[in-house]
Amino acid sequence: MSAAPLLSRPSPSADLLFRDVHVLDPRTGFDGRHDVRVRAGELAELGAAGTLEAEDVEVVDAQGRYHLLPAFFDTHVHLRTPGQEHKEDLETGTRAAAAGGFAGVIAMPNTDPVVDSAALLGSVREVAAREARVPVGFLPAITVGSAGVQLTEMAEMRDGGALGFSDDGRPVSSAAVMRKALRYQRLCGGVLALHEEDVSLAGKGVMHEGAVSAALGLAGIPSVSESTMVARDAALAAYEHGRVHFQHLSVHESVEAVAAAKAQGVSVSAEVTPHHLLLCDEQVRGLDSSTKVNPPLATESDRQALIEGLRSGVIDCVATDHAPHAREEKEVPFEQAPMGTTGLETAFAVLYTELVLGGVLELSLLVERMTAGAGLFELPVHRIAAGEVANLVLMDLDARWTAGEHGWESRSANCAFAGRALRGRALLTVAAGAVAYRERSFSLVAV
Ligand SMILES: [Zn+2]
Ligand SMILES: [Zn+2]
Repeated sequence: MSAAPLLSRPSPSADLLFRDVHVLDPRTGFDGRHDVRVRAGELAELGAAGTLEAEDVEVVDAQGRYHLLPAFFDTHVHLRTPGQEHKEDLETGTRAAAAGGFAGVIAMPNTDPVVDSAALLGSVREVAAREARVPVGFLPAITVGSAGVQLTEMAEMRDGGALGFSDDGRPVSSAAVMRKALRYQRLCGGVLALHEEDVSLAGKGVMHEGAVSAALGLAGIPSVSESTMVARDAALAAYEHGRVHFQHLSVHESVEAVAAAKAQGVSVSAEVTPHHLLLCDEQVRGLDSSTKVNPPLATESDRQALIEGLRSGVIDCVATDHAPHAREEKEVPFEQAPMGTTGLETAFAVLYTELVLGGVLELSLLVERMTAGAGLFELPVHRIAAGEVANLVLMDLDARWTAGEHGWESRSANCAFAGRALRGRALLTVAAGAVAYRERSFSLVAV
């Protein structure tokens, strides 16, 4: 690949001193109070708390109350450009990302038109280079129009900066087409990121098939719609020596299929969303369309299997599948509403509140899984160490807030967690060496 894989708008490099901040980075081993100097966008120096001189720059005096974490990376977002800017665009979507502590995202191609050519990829990359607040990478489509029939010009798009390919929103239904994509991937590289759904099993389903769908009288989508496709594509990847990433796992059978593939040494990875980690089909009983997502929220035991998969590393990373929809599109009867929830602004706080404060996962493990996605797409993983580009989030873990209480940075409000009482809020995000977000009520103390 010759073109830069991630693009964002030109921004002045940050010069900051974080004083007495709790630095936590599971990769470099920091877990304690330090001073951290960012000079010209680079992590220039770390020292014992209270030892670094201010040097006429902005100082964040944390007094030990705030955490400094490597900024998060999201392997799965929908930024809706081109063609659906009434839902989101590159600027609003990446503003939401920065507000959630993310310093890098990967955008899906199911826009209008579908990003399925080098020309279209070039034009969305130009928009990102003008408007994006945090670096954005792109996965153009595997098949023309994501119709599942004819492969796109994968090699040409790799040269044009594609991180890999995805038909997200749809599966690659034909095993023969999938096999062909794996053979082209061997030549051009990049990751095939797969939305796994057997459309002949999913049918017209609008939620998970089980006791709740039966009680509500709604058409269900069975677990095997996802898990049989995960198993099929793991087998094809093994046969063709390919590299696949499974998107948004939702049921325990899929976790088992990924574990089996990994045990056999197949080059697979997997992501899980905050909503699948925290919600289940019981939450759909109220028929709130913000709980209508694809894949659907499954059962409590599926949710437990996803948490265990994330803990054990069978699931490599958290991804939001941030899927904005306009209010009028979601304010229709449940059966007719489009699938998807926003997630960038709440991802860390919902997981921290429920899983870390709930005693289920360690904070350091959550940080690891919220940053690991970059490495799966052959990108540098954000790290806190001298000499690294600054990709940081300053987090107030004690902050209490209600999701959506002051509106959203995203253009859309269809968040499954709206109204939830949360703990943990990003105060400042530095992405690729530049300040990408400052919390409104948080002002830096200048010396
Ligand atoms: Zn999907
Ligand atoms: Zn998606």
